[in-house]
Order: sequence, then structure tokens, then C-alpha cells
Amino acid sequence: MPTIRQLPPNLVNQIAAGEVIERPASVVKELLENSVDAGARRIELLIEKGGTERIRVSDDGCGISAEQLPLAVTSHATSKLPDDDSLFHVGTLGFRGEALASIASVSQMLIRSRTEAGSEGAELRIRGGVLEPVAPCGCPQGTSIEIRNLFFNTPVRRKFLRTPQTERGHIVEAFTRLALANPQIHMVLSNGDKTLYDLPQTERWVDRIEAFFGGEVSDSLIPLDSDDGQIRISGYACDPAVSRGNNRMQYLFLNGRFIRDRSLQHALGEAYRGLLMVGRFPVGFLRVSIPPEMVDVNVHPCKLEVRFTDGGRIYSRVLQTLRHRFLSTDMTMRVGPSS
Ligand code: ADP
Ligand code: MG
Repeated sequence: MPTIRQLPPNLVNQIAAGEVIERPASVVKELLENSVDAGARRIELLIEKGGTERIRVSDDGCGISAEQLPLAVTSHATSKLPDDDSLFHVGTLGFRGEALASIASVSQMLIRSRTEAGSEGAELRIRGGVLEPVAPCGCPQGTSIEIRNLFFNTPVRRKFLRTPQTERGHIVEAFTRLALANPQIHMVLSNGDKTLYDLPQTERWVDRIEAFFGGEVSDSLIPLDSDDGQIRISGYACDPAVSRGNNRMQYLFLNGRFIRDRSLQHALGEAYRGLLMVGRFPVGFLRVSIPPEMVDVNVHPCKLEVRFTDGGRIYSRVLQTLRHRFLSTDMTMRVGPSS
């Protein structure tokens, strides 16, 4: 008879990492989200070799105290659910307390952090989930987390990494999503010693959109704004002259979180029906804000997909908002292929 054994924590974390940490870009997403949750006003991301060799995210957020550092890399440990009810109205990007523990179990991690109250900083090194003692260090207020050699101890997963260029592409996409969602934060992305993006904080969302997609897109934005007291929709749809051959340039942000949602993408497509040639997809940047109890973000480990309590209502609000706007807009109607 086989015996049942309780798995050691480090193995549990490696298994969890298999769910959330697919590639360097997943690490980047988790680290950037943590910096946003920490109230950072400036976040710097540095990558080397498409993140396969090195990823470092530094922020000027609230920091982590020396005593709490080991907890930060412990699974199911989070500062974001102060009581058991808060799971049902999550206001932060993170809440599962899994990311750092997962990443630390499959990489070499160095965390340096200092809180506002702390007179000095503290650092913690973890190698494949094994913690070294916390040591004092000099560092500015905030947190810097460096990941080296992702998947060094899980060779099969390391083998599945693509070329540095491909991995870098995924990282740039993760950075783009987060930078679009947070124009109030100064965000920098460097690849080795080359700065790819240096985006000062801005009140104008258009600035961010232009920084990533250029004038062709930012000049053809049609502003949206509707509010029924519960569901607020803002952002931009793009002139049909600027369409794409796939739906990847449909950026949906729900309560500040980038999401993929088939139904809302369908609503976007419906609104453009008759305005685009078959096989062309609209470009849009939509921000939807709803009361947190109208959505469950806890259905997908990466929280990329969510579940609405009343998806039909949100679908109709998006469709109506777009249609209404299009009716009152002098659309150029240059239906045809564009880049
Ligand atoms: P979660 O974000 O779901 O809480 P994580 O594993 O991503 O879980 O992080 C664990 C905890 O570590 C967070 O709850 C937070 O308290 C702390 N932490 C992580 N990154 C940062 C950061 N950049 N600044 C301040 N605290 C952080
Ligand atoms: Mg997190």
C-alpha cells in the first residue's frame, strides 16, 4: 500500500510556481504588481538576457521591515488581507501571498528593503527556496528584488524558455500593461545598459498610450466616459482607420487590473460591426470600474481572467457606451487595412 506523505514546503512552493511562474515575464508581472501595491511612485525594471539571467525591480514604496522579510517569501503570507472578509473586496493587485515564495523556490533571489521608519535597510538572500539569515544593509527607502537564473534548479522548465528576444517581448508586454494601468507612477524599463522606456508620471493617459504605440494610435483616440452609478467606463476606442489583424491591442483594465475577457472583447467587436473589414480587430483602451463585490478576481492564479456577478450588465454597458459615442462622433470611416 502506498503511503501518503505531506510534502515539504519547498516542494509545495515549486509546484505552486508551476502554476503562476511560466516564464520571466510572469516574474516581472508579480514584482511590478507588488511595487504598485506598496504605493510606489517610481518603479524601475532592469532585465538581462530577456530576464532569463537577471530581473530586478526597484521601487520607492512602503518597504518591508527586517523582521517581516522572511514572511514575505513564505507562502500564504500576505499583508493584503488584514481580515478574513477582505477576500471578498480585494483592493490590491495581490492577495494570495504566493508569488514571492514561488519565485524564490525556483531562482536565486536577493531582496533589499527599508521602511520609512527603519534607520537602516535589511537584505535577504534565498537560493532555490533556502533562506540565508537576514542581514543589515544600506539602501534607500523602498524595495529592490533581484532574481537571477530563473529555473536554475528545475532544468526541464529552464529548457522551455524561448530565446532572450522572445522572453523580452513578453516582459515588455507585461511592463506595458502595468504602465498603462498606472500612469501616476514613473516607470523605467532598461535592458542591460540600454533604457527602453522612461515614462514620467502623467495625468494624461494619452501620453502613456503614445509612448507605447506612437502617434498613429494616440492621434486617433475617441474618448469614452459613462457612469450609471455603479459601472464606470472610461478610456478610449480607436478610430476604425487604425485596426489590427488580431485582438491583442485591446487593453481592458478592470479596477486598475489588466484583464482578458472574451465577453468584453466581444462587446468591443460588436460596437465596430460594419465599421471594420472582416478579419480586422478594433484597437481600444478601456477602463471599467465596478464595486469590488461585483467581481471575483480569485478564479485564475494569475488573475488575468475574472468572473463577474452580472457579466451581462457589464457587457451591455460597454456596448452601449461605445455605440452611443460612435453615433455622436464624426467617424472617418476609412475602412480598410492598416498596420
Ligand atoms: P501578495 O502580493 O499576494 O501579498 P507576494 O508573495 O507577492 O504576495 O508578496 C508577499 C508580501 O510581501 C506582500 O503581501 C507584501 O507585504 C510584501 N511585499 C512584496 N513585495 C513588496 C514590495 N515591493 N514592497 C513592499 N512590500 C512587498
Ligand atoms: Mg504579489
